[in-house]
Amino acid sequence: MDLNRHEFELDDLIERIKDNDNRLVALQVPEGLKMQALEMMDAIEEDTSARIILAADPCYGACDLVHDKMQRMGVELVAHMGHSQMNIDSGMPTEFINVTYDGDPAIDPVLPILSVHREIAQKRLSEPLNESEMSEKEAQERFMDAVGRVSPLRGAKLGLVGSIQHLHLIFDYKERLESAGFEVEVPVGGARLSFPGQVLGCNYSGDSDEIGHYLFLGSGDFHPIGLVLHTGKPLAMLDPYTGGAEEMSFQRIEGILRQRFGLIMACDQAKTFGILIGEKPGQMRRNLALRMKRKLEKHGRKGYLLALEHVGPELIDFYPVDAFVNTACPRIAIDDSVRYAKPLLTPFELEVVLGDKKWETGYKFDEIP
Ligand code: SF4
Repeated sequence: MDLNRHEFELDDLIERIKDNDNRLVALQVPEGLKMQALEMMDAIEEDTSARIILAADPCYGACDLVHDKMQRMGVELVAHMGHSQMNIDSGMPTEFINVTYDGDPAIDPVLPILSVHREIAQKRLSEPLNESEMSEKEAQERFMDAVGRVSPLRGAKLGLVGSIQHLHLIFDYKERLESAGFEVEVPVGGARLSFPGQVLGCNYSGDSDEIGHYLFLGSGDFHPIGLVLHTGKPLAMLDPYTGGAEEMSFQRIEGILRQRFGLIMACDQAKTFGILIGEKPGQMRRNLALRMKRKLEKHGRKGYLLALEHVGPELIDFYPVDAFVNTACPRIAIDDSVRYAKPLLTPFELEVVLGDKKWETGYKFDEIP
């Protein structure tokens, strides 16, 4: 990562500290920027009379805000870097610090992929699909049963989304793509999201029936995997760090779904479950966890509620239960389940195990609204 091309917008934070005459401030930075944290602490301390404490625990999102534990340490303000505000109250005054990247890749490499995906979306629109009559090859060509269901489309627009450090370029890219002949929508999501075009690993609420396929501006496949699992729509990726373009392949998504189905099957005879509740402010889904416990009891199985700040194999594998269901960050089950000795399911997957939901009607991504 070329840090010289990142802009860390510390000015508003410094103003706020001065205005409030804050003396003790906690700085929270994402994992990829931790190496630069000490430099930032120096910069803030030089410009203000505050002392800065680095909240050095791992941090993967704004769901993970420093909360009232720090108040007991005397911290008056939290400076949270690299993520945007969500619909949660951590109990602490918090300043969000924007980080932007100026990488501005050409769209040419991604245009051929987008043209193919637009054709898939238009075909879906014009020819109502009869899944039972399709061969596996036809289904793959149309990206049809990537998540086991066909999205109910009313349009074939290109949905343009990105990760937060690239969103300042999103409307510029919209114009470029429109000039290349695409009809583009920048989706606006729900209260967990702050900006047009924003997606999180657990929230794709801007999706609409008018969007037939996607372009993701960002690096890595964390957001793209979730978006395809959530929507079942074809997706291309343009990486601002490398300028490279690729698509999220049908085979990749199918592989993930095969693994999920294997875990569901492995829980068929499971009698006891650990139900994980995340203690982080933006991951805490107590009601969902209680609902899973009631469901298990209704089906003659047993559920134990386990609350944790961090979830990891070393923290849960030893409990004498047959499997776990996770109500904390949805991506722990999807992305990390191979690290766990016992099956780790999402709430939807547990409902399939219990027969309350059907796998055949399509995979339901575990979204936090
Ligand atoms: S995907 Fe997980 S870590 Fe990221 S914002 Fe959502 S709950 Fe937090």
